[in-house]
Amino acid sequence: MGDKLNIPPYIGRFAPSPSGPLHFGSLVAALASYLDARAHHGKWLVRMEDIDPPREQPKAADQILKALDVYGLHWDDSVLFQSDRSEAYDDALDALLREEKLYPCTCTRKKLAGLNGVYPGYCRHRRVIPSQPHGLRLLCNNQIIQFQDRIQGDQSFALNTLGDFILKRKDGLYAYQLAVCIDDNFQGVTHIVRGVDILDSTPRQLYLQSQLHYPHPVYAHIPVITRNNGNKLSKQNHAPAIPLTNPRPLMIKALTAFGLKPEPELLMNSVEEILSWGIKHWSMRNMAGKKEIFQDSL
Ligand code: GLU
Ligand code: ZN
Repeated sequence: MGDKLNIPPYIGRFAPSPSGPLHFGSLVAALASYLDARAHHGKWLVRMEDIDPPREQPKAADQILKALDVYGLHWDDSVLFQSDRSEAYDDALDALLREEKLYPCTCTRKKLAGLNGVYPGYCRHRRVIPSQPHGLRLLCNNQIIQFQDRIQGDQSFALNTLGDFILKRKDGLYAYQLAVCIDDNFQGVTHIVRGVDILDSTPRQLYLQSQLHYPHPVYAHIPVITRNNGNKLSKQNHAPAIPLTNPRPLMIKALTAFGLKPEPELLMNSVEEILSWGIKHWSMRNMAGKKEIFQDSL
């Protein structure tokens, strides 16, 4: 009875950036990670990725947490704010520096224009930290990074097509790739469920995890919600904030986006009952290989 030792540990998370309130696309990501965690009897954490002040809105973090609460997405433990984590990021950068796994880069934006974000290694020879402003880049080799995505299937990326990527920017801000790896490890995250729009960040993160001697989580990249013109719902595209009154219709719509088939009467039930239905019927099968879902088809 209750042989819990046989259940492999599961810690999942939702990691929004507070650049605006939740929209339907981010609700779908939050709900997918929540349902997957709860269906595995796992923990579900929320982490606020507030490391890029110029892109943030002052009230967004509170609005996001309020919206999660209204939609019944109650998290375990306390919310981790990345803005409190500078010390951990600096320690990791120091360790990488000691192991000669990163190097300072003084390149200007102008010099890097037109390279599509793929850095060709101009500053690779630098080992001494210069006195002028500089970023820090991770030295990447020509490894092929392979992983099995639970939704998108077998993935394979040549690391050298992605370039030596930034871990700390010249303006002093920490890069998403650095913060996400350190905090996923710090929080013991075992399973990551997030939008397929960041699928090509995953090989970078797998490589960085290895460089930091961290274990690798398991990944599932869910399709993104797009408008009929093919644009993904995002803050940049002015996707509207989800309503904080009557959350149920959008919850049903999100379940439908996962390819689940809630019966119409479910709409009459409470938020908690809708979530219980979602946990009970949770499956990624109908999303297999899908990169986008048209909002108007729901
Ligand atoms: N903070 C990232 C975003 O909002 C998500 C990071 C992640 O799930 O790894 O796009
Ligand atoms: Zn450079």
